[in-house]
Amino acid sequence: MPEQLAIVPVDHDPGVGPAGAGTWARLLAAHVDRSAGRRRGVPDHRPSAAILACSDARVPPSVIFDQPAGELFVVRIAGNSASAEAVASLTYAVEVLGVDTIVVLGHTHCGAVAAAAAGSCTGALAPIVEPICRLAIDHPQLDPIALGELHVRRTVRALAVGAGPFAAAIRRGELSVVGAVHDLEEGRISMLETAPATINPDTSERTVSSTIPHLSEAS
Ligand SMILES: [Zn+2]
Repeated sequence: MPEQLAIVPVDHDPGVGPAGAGTWARLLAAHVDRSAGRRRGVPDHRPSAAILACSDARVPPSVIFDQPAGELFVVRIAGNSASAEAVASLTYAVEVLGVDTIVVLGHTHCGAVAAAAAGSCTGALAPIVEPICRLAIDHPQLDPIALGELHVRRTVRALAVGAGPFAAAIRRGELSVVGAVHDLEEGRISMLETAPATINPDTSERTVSSTIPHLSEAS
């Protein structure tokens, strides 16, 4: 017999405490009931792109790209690092759902990047900031904006070149991987790097031109 939690009646108080009850009530009240007019059955799951984005509440990919439900397969992790779990999710999007584009989306004023730049690389946040911390150690001259952009570039390369998990799909012409950053102040997105178009896997040198001056020292 499974745990008793499996048969909790629908009117049972799930135990949302005072700290969260107001927030949850607000979210529930704001929930948009989309049942009216929906055709019978489960909507198709055929997203056009997968997004690896930070968990930051200010950068929701579906809002930023103005896409309806069903269009974006979104993997969010603070610091938008390609963790094993994130890569597994992206692999599902590519191999099962058939997306032809992965976007690695960083953003300015990222807390994970700021933590790495400040050397806060241990403790509970370590699994999130560790990839960025390695870059910060190797490139101590970079400010947080440049560090975050370099992190996006390196993540694209890790996914797309050499023995990366998506290198074969890119070689077959089935997939592109794009690196971009959302500027919170300007409210716009700058593309940093794409694979296969602008990456030289032999040298791992940045070959894409950028209009952002501080990126000239980033690679
Ligand atoms: Zn962030």
